[in-house]
This record gives sequence, C-alpha cells and structure tokens, in this order.
Amino acid sequence: MSKKYDLFIIGGGINGAGIARDASGRGLSVYLADKGKVGSATSSWSSKLIHGGLRYLENYEFKLVRESLKEREVITNIASEITNPLPFIIPYKKKLRSKLLIKFGLFLYDNLGGKTKIPKSSKVNLMTDYSNILQPKFSTGFKYYDVQVDDKKLVEMNIDDAKNMGAKIVENKKVINAKNESNGWSITLENNEIVKASILINAAGPWINETVNNVININTKKSIRLVRGSHIITRKLYNEEIAFTLQNNDNRIVFVIPHNKEYSLIGTTEVDVEKPDNPKISEEEKFYLIDTINDHFIKQISTSDIISTYSGIRPLIEDFKEASKVTRDYIFDLNIQNMNAPLLNIYGGKLTTYRKLSEKVIEELEPYLPIKKTKNWTHLKKL
Ligand SMILES: Cc1cc2nc3c(=O)[nH]c(=O)nc-3n(C[C@H](O)[C@H](O)[C@H](O)COP(=O)(O)OP(=O)(O)OC[C@H]3O[C@@H](n4cnc5c(N)ncnc54)[C@H](O)[C@@H]3O)c2cc1C
Repeated sequence: MSKKYDLFIIGGGINGAGIARDASGRGLSVYLADKGKVGSATSSWSSKLIHGGLRYLENYEFKLVRESLKEREVITNIASEITNPLPFIIPYKKKLRSKLLIKFGLFLYDNLGGKTKIPKSSKVNLMTDYSNILQPKFSTGFKYYDVQVDDKKLVEMNIDDAKNMGAKIVENKKVINAKNESNGWSITLENNEIVKASILINAAGPWINETVNNVININTKKSIRLVRGSHIITRKLYNEEIAFTLQNNDNRIVFVIPHNKEYSLIGTTEVDVEKPDNPKISEEEKFYLIDTINDHFIKQISTSDIISTYSGIRPLIEDFKEASKVTRDYIFDLNIQNMNAPLLNIYGGKLTTYRKLSEKVIEELEPYLPIKKTKNWTHLKKL
C-alpha cells in the first residue's frame, strides 16, 4: 500500500516552505508539490524586505505590525546570512504627513516589537547628512531601519531544511485534483501520480481561489482580491547603502532600495487584476514609478534607464477598500464540516510573517494531528 502522509501542501512559496519545515521538524510526514520551481512565484517578486510595515500603522493594524516587528528580529537571527539591516529615509513633505505624526509612528515602530538589535529611528538633516541625493525642497527627513532579505533563498533554505528532515518535495508538478475520501485526501498530480494524505493545506498564494474552485472543487465564502505590484530596476541612483521611503501625493509610498550592489530597486504599484498568471508591468506603472523618482531625486530618470522589471500578485483578503488599505495579514479557513479530513486554506500573508504563520498552522491543526503537544522550535534553529 502506498504511504499516507500526515500533511499534503499545495504550493512551495514561502508559506508552503515554512509550514513544511516546521511540520517536518515536529516529526510529521509532509508532501509538498509546486507547479513550478519552489519560491519562483510571489515569494521572489517581493520588495525583499523583512519589515514591520510602518505604513500599516496608519490603518491601525497594530497587531500585524507588532507580530511583523517581532518576526523581523527572529528572522534576522535565524537567517543572518541572507538578511541585512538597512536604514530607510523618509523625506518630510509639508503637505502630507505632519512631523508629529511621523515621529509618533516611528516611536511606535521602535517600540511595538519589544527588544531589538535594530537601531532606533532619528530625525536627519538631508542637506548635510545625505547631501546631493534629493532635491533641495527636501531638507528634513526621518531615518528608521528595516531588513533586506534574499526572498527566494529564504524559501529555498526552508525547503532544504524540510527535505533534510524527511519531507518529500516535488517541483514542476501541478496538483490537478484533490478528493476528500472516507479515509483522507487523495491528491492527483499532473503526471497522474496519486498521493494520499490525512490533511490538505492549500498554500497556493494568488492561485488560492483557482485551487479551491478547480482543484479541490468546494465552495468557499472567502474572497480574495488580486493586486499586482511592480518594481523597476535602474543603475543605482546614489552610492550610499540607504533606502528611501517616498511619500506620494496619492498617500501611497514607494521604496527605493539598493539592489545587488550596482542597482536601485524601485516599487511598488497597486493594480487590480483578474488572473494571477504571468504578471507584467504596464507602461502606466512604469511612469508612476519614474514620476515618483523624478519628483524627489536630483538625478532624473526615464524609461531608457529601466534595466529590468518584475511584478508579483498580492492575494489580499477582499474587504472592499483601496488596495493600500487592505490588510496584509493572513487568515486561515479551516474546513472540517462535511469533510472526512481537514482542509486548511491560507489567505493573504507577508514574507515577514511566514514563520509565525507556519507555527499557527500547526496550532490550528493540532486536534487532527497524530503527534500532539509538540514544542515550537523554528525561532531557535538557524536556517
Ligand atoms: C509586489 C510585492 C511586494 C511584496 N513585498 C513584500 C515585502 O517586501 N515583504 C514582505 O514581507 N512581503 C512582501 N510581499 C508579500 C509576499 O511576497 C507574499 O505574501 C508571499 O510571497 C506569499 O507567499 P505564498 O507562499 O503565499 O505565495 P507564492 O510565493 O506565490 O507561492 C504559491 C505557490 O503555489 C504554487 N501553486 C499554485 N497553484 C498550484 C497547484 N495547483 N499545484 C501546485 N502548486 C501550485 C505556485 O507555483 C507558487 O509557487 C510582497 C508581495 C508583492 C506582490
């Protein structure tokens, strides 16, 4: 008889990879399948930041910011080789957020996450401390710190650990069907291989609805909104190892981040889309990002300065707000009613919170797992 796994995970993005690592380390048997290469979808199209999400404070998402700041500390410790604390400068703009508001936000940001090795925020003089980068209309700025990460490597390191602890990981195999049978899940891969598992975890990122509707074939009450975020890459706009958090007049922010020593990574945008496949930047998004740079920097750029671009799709939980105000938090949808074996759908999330999300998945599934009362461990062991 073929082996029956404790968990089957659809999707080897950061969330699937994190769950596979965590669960394998607790002695659970795990099968993870990805339709492409692990970590090659949304998890490598991010802004590559492990961050608290300063701007989420404006949406009163204190719980999310607190958890993210705590995770920033943990991930910097367990993945020190691929993370790098980086100063971010917010140029002050009179007509937008007041100095008092920014200072208050930064005070919260410095303290919400508890003890940290990351330096605290401060006010800076842009004319003397960081001269000849921004236009003279910006004289005051605020400096705070976040952490840069190699997002794809973070996925791969989680996957490698999971493999070393016995997880079966398969790439380039789409899950085409998952059937809830009397003795568990029967999952069909695109080469018609059938895998049996007790619990199914759907970590398909922006393909979550597609998977729920066409692979698992159940009705769900949850709805997600697909929002494209694009970045452009140019030769570096300045030499200093600092990033900028630019405030746009539409109240959004755009990051300018040092990228692979020679380049600047500029993003992102927010555009609602219908489908999660093959996201690509539009001309309009390019101009939005270029205009933002030209409104702030002495160096002016045009489309001919763009060396490359990439886009990713945020699967945001639909709550009918402006995209920038929709929560970046994750929610679980555990299906047990009318089912012989549990199904956990994962909606939303951030790179930053993947480890905590993975722990909470185990907590949520605890009543259905063959191994009980296992200790959380991923915050202690280096990747
Ligand atoms: C533009 C942008 C910038 C971002 N910046 C940041 C940031 O700086 N910091 C941060 O913390 N977060 C950031 N995020 C959020 C973060 O990138 C995502 O939350 C995270 O990568 C989502 O991971 P995931 O595992 O859910 O999805 P994904 O990485 O998309 O993984 C899902 C996987 O499922 C697979 N899959 C789908 N369907 C099937 C199927 N039927 N069978 C098998 N496999 C399947 C896909 O191939 C894919 O590999 C950003 C997001 C975007 C879009």
